[in-house]
Amino acid sequence: GCHMNSPQSLDASKLTYAYTTTPQPVPDAETLAKNHKTLCTDHMIVASWDVETGWSAPQLKPYGPLSLLPSASCLHYAYECFEGLKAYRGDDGKLRMFRADQNVRRLQMSAERISLPEFDADELEKLIYELLAVDGAKWLPKSRAGDFLYVRPTMIGTDPQLGVTRPTEALLYIIVGYTPRVDTPLGGKRLLTSPDDMVRSWVGGFGYAKVGANYGPSVKVSQEASRLGYHQVLWLYGPNGDCTEAGGSNFFVIWKRKDGKKELITAPLDDQLILNGVTRRSCLELVKDRLGDEFEVTERKFTIDEIQEAAAEGRLLESFAAGTAWFITPISLIHHRGSDINIPTGPDGTPAEITGRIKGWLGDMMYGRVAHKWARVV
Ligand code: PMP
Repeated sequence: GCHMNSPQSLDASKLTYAYTTTPQPVPDAETLAKNHKTLCTDHMIVASWDVETGWSAPQLKPYGPLSLLPSASCLHYAYECFEGLKAYRGDDGKLRMFRADQNVRRLQMSAERISLPEFDADELEKLIYELLAVDGAKWLPKSRAGDFLYVRPTMIGTDPQLGVTRPTEALLYIIVGYTPRVDTPLGGKRLLTSPDDMVRSWVGGFGYAKVGANYGPSVKVSQEASRLGYHQVLWLYGPNGDCTEAGGSNFFVIWKRKDGKKELITAPLDDQLILNGVTRRSCLELVKDRLGDEFEVTERKFTIDEIQEAAAEGRLLESFAAGTAWFITPISLIHHRGSDINIPTGPDGTPAEITGRIKGWLGDMMYGRVAHKWARVV
C-alpha cells in the first residue's frame, strides 16, 4: 500500500560493528597444517534480505553459528552460491586484493541463476574490505609477507519453505578462512580425465555459476582420482572429449599448432560449461598484451585427442591450471583411458618458461612487487 517503503538496497555505509569478546589465538603454521577443519578469523559480516523490506543494515559480528530453521530453503533446494578470493600480504607489508570487483560481479551472476536476490556488487566489495580492515592485521601480520587469507562471500536462501519457489528471505555473509599455504605438488600436477559416464556440467545447465550444487557432486570423481594418485580431475565433455576444467581451476595448454604458430588455448565461455575464472581471464589478457606477437591466444573447444596428438608430434609445450586456490600450477601429466600424456615442465615439475612468466607477473601484482590496477591495497 501507500505506506510501504521500497525495498532497501545493500549499503556498506550502514555497517554496524560488534566486536568479539573472546578473540581466538592465531595458531602457528604447524598446528594449522595438522588441523583439517577450516579455521576462520574472529569476525564475519552478515546482511539479511527479505522480499518486502530488501537488505538489512550489514553487521560485523563475532564469527559463529548461524541460526536456521530445518525447513530453510538452502538446506533443501541448494539455494547457495559463493565466491573465493584471497587477500595477499605483500612484500611491502601491505594487504592487497586481486580483482575483487570481478568476484563480486560473478556472485551477482551466480545468485541470479538460482533466484537469489540482487545486490549492489560495489557495496559487497566495500564490505569485504571492511572485514579485512578489522581482521587482517591480526590474522595475517606484516611478518607473514607472501601469505594470504581466503575470503568466502556466500549467499543462501533462508526462508522456511518446503515448496520449490523463489526464496523470499536470504542471508549474505562474508567469512575469512585462515588456511595453510598451498605448495605446488613436487613433480607438477598429475591429472586424470573424467570417466565417460560422469560430467561436471552440461550445455543448458549451470556449470558456469559458482553454486554449491556444482561442487559436492564432483567429489566422488575427484576422490577416486586422488585414490589412484592423481591431484585433480580433468573434466571432459561430449562425444569428442572436449577439455573443460581441471578440478577447481581453469585448464590451459600451450602448444605449437600444425601451422607452426605457438598458441595458448583454453576452453570457451560461450557454451556455459565452465566457470569464468578471474585468474583465467587475467592470464588471457596478460599473454595477449605482453606476448601477443609470439603467441596466438585462443578460447575455443579443444579435445583430449588433440593434446595426445600434439604430444606425439612433439608440439606440446606446456600446460597449467589457473585459479585462486592453487594459483598457477604446472601440469606434468594427464592420464587418459589407460595412457599417459607427458607434458614438459621445468626441473622437478617447476613451471616451464611461459607458465613461469605468467605466474611471476600475477604474483608480482598480488604481493605488491609491481604496482598494477588489478591489485588494490586494503
Ligand atoms: N573453475 C572452477 C570450477 C572453480 O571453482 C574455480 C575457482 N573459483 C576456478 C575455475 C578458478 O576461478 P578463479 O580464477 O576465479 O579462482
